[in-house]
Amino acid sequence: MHAVPAERISTANDLPIQDRGRYVLYWMRAARRPFWNFSLQHAVQRAIELQRPLLIVETLACDEPCANLRHHHFALDGMADNARQFADKSVAYHPFVEQQPGQIGALLTQIGQETCLLVTDEHPLLEQRQQLSALAKALPICIEVIDGNGILPLRATDRDFTTAYSFRRFLQRQLAGHLLTMPLADPLRETRLPQLKKKPEILSKPESTFSDNLLKGQHNSLYQLPIDQQVQPVKQSGGYQAAEVLFERFLAEGLPRYVEQRNQPEREITSGLSAHLRWGHISPHQLVQRLLTQEGWTPGHLSLECRGQRSGWWGLNENSEAFLDQLITWRELGYQLCHRRDDYQQVDSLPEWAQQTLNHHADDPRPYLYSAEELAASQTHDALWNAAQRQLVREGRIHNYLRMLWGKKILEWSPSPKAALKVMIDLNDRLALDGRDPNSYSGIGWCLGRFDRAWGPERPIFGKIRYMSSLNTARKVSVKNYLRRYGPD
Ligand SMILES: Cc1cc2nc3c(=O)[nH]c(=O)nc-3n(C[C@H](O)[C@H](O)[C@H](O)COP(=O)(O)OP(=O)(O)OC[C@H]3O[C@@H](n4cnc5c(N)ncnc54)[C@H](O)[C@@H]3O)c2cc1C
Repeated sequence: MHAVPAERISTANDLPIQDRGRYVLYWMRAARRPFWNFSLQHAVQRAIELQRPLLIVETLACDEPCANLRHHHFALDGMADNARQFADKSVAYHPFVEQQPGQIGALLTQIGQETCLLVTDEHPLLEQRQQLSALAKALPICIEVIDGNGILPLRATDRDFTTAYSFRRFLQRQLAGHLLTMPLADPLRETRLPQLKKKPEILSKPESTFSDNLLKGQHNSLYQLPIDQQVQPVKQSGGYQAAEVLFERFLAEGLPRYVEQRNQPEREITSGLSAHLRWGHISPHQLVQRLLTQEGWTPGHLSLECRGQRSGWWGLNENSEAFLDQLITWRELGYQLCHRRDDYQQVDSLPEWAQQTLNHHADDPRPYLYSAEELAASQTHDALWNAAQRQLVREGRIHNYLRMLWGKKILEWSPSPKAALKVMIDLNDRLALDGRDPNSYSGIGWCLGRFDRAWGPERPIFGKIRYMSSLNTARKVSVKNYLRRYGPD
């Protein structure tokens, strides 16, 4: 078994491993997958060293911000995949869907009493960090926290990156080494761990077996949960299997046209994987490795020049380079941001120049002002914006190019940048399947100048923030069918 790189391992306390414990516990809460999972790999390694069974508990909270039917459905698809995958492996897997706030903490505290150590996933969002600190206080056992978030470990740098360019330049100097230390594709392959003869009693109680029917696809009991019942499930399925199907289709059909057509909302040629990445159903490592294998890439392809160039560093074709730039540079820029700061949802976290120019234009007249309710109901004068918002409501996604326009217009139509941020975060996090990801706050912040530079000419409301208009968008990309497809009900 390969060891997980040391810079991906941290501890939530400094307690020793309990030799008397009956099992190793892996609390799966972010990397919700059986494959390409550093946390699972580490938990298996610990179980082998300690000669103990491995108990995996995957939890789904009811009191997370924005917990709703849409997100629960998607997460449950993943839990069902995991249950099937772990069924014939030498581990005990227990999915736990919380029915009342506090149940997850109580469950972990109880089963934690009998464990040698608890392994869990690191995640950069503030609530996830706070959840872990609370558990570490309540549970006096050794807790090891594993970072499988990106190709670059979160702790590989303590620098703040203010542009994609500076981050890309850094990555080009650092990434080669990390590409050699990928997680194992299947950490349970050819592994026989001791069997867990007796599951902790609490796992047989009704609150712990509540998820059994849900995993069989009988979702009626979701309607009893204290989660937002207004946000309806969408067609897109969750889970690692659906993610792998999407990626194979993308490699065959979308990737060859990625540079030319990825900004075309009607073409839909991007991977569509952001929700699966958000829910941890697929690992970025798996995507990178699969792509590099398909392209016959070796480390010898890497350019020796590390100037932060967007294309040419990997030594691949331009489509693959562009996709890797989104998946690694842009995605991990957001992860670094949230890992490093607590205020990523606030105006204060925007660059100085952006705050200054927005302040300078704070009192500009706003010809259109819409309330949060009007925006949520697609009731603006702008047909393209309304269509994008309807796509978000109906399908839980917006094409990336229109997503930028969507955010820019919310800034233009809100009484202040602070109010705009609040509405964007609420709509995005509640409705988007990939919402509540570090990239939610980097993407939303980008609409207000994050990771960008000042642009001219200076305009009302926006100041030097990059401006977008529906008219220009409709000139640049074809939207006729899009408008028809996402027209009013
Ligand atoms: C206002 C606004 C809100 C956003 N909210 C979210 C969000 O909640 N969750 C989210 O994951 N992304 C968000 N983004 C970024 C981007 O829109 C999505 O990541 C992208 O549209 C996902 O589609 P895809 O998986 O088909 O992307 P692909 O083009 O197939 O790209 C592959 C992967 O690269 C990453 N990626 C692609 N574009 C970006 C980007 N601009 N920034 C960061 N990572 C990127 C994603 O992980 C994506 O799945 C937001 C952008 C804006 C402007």
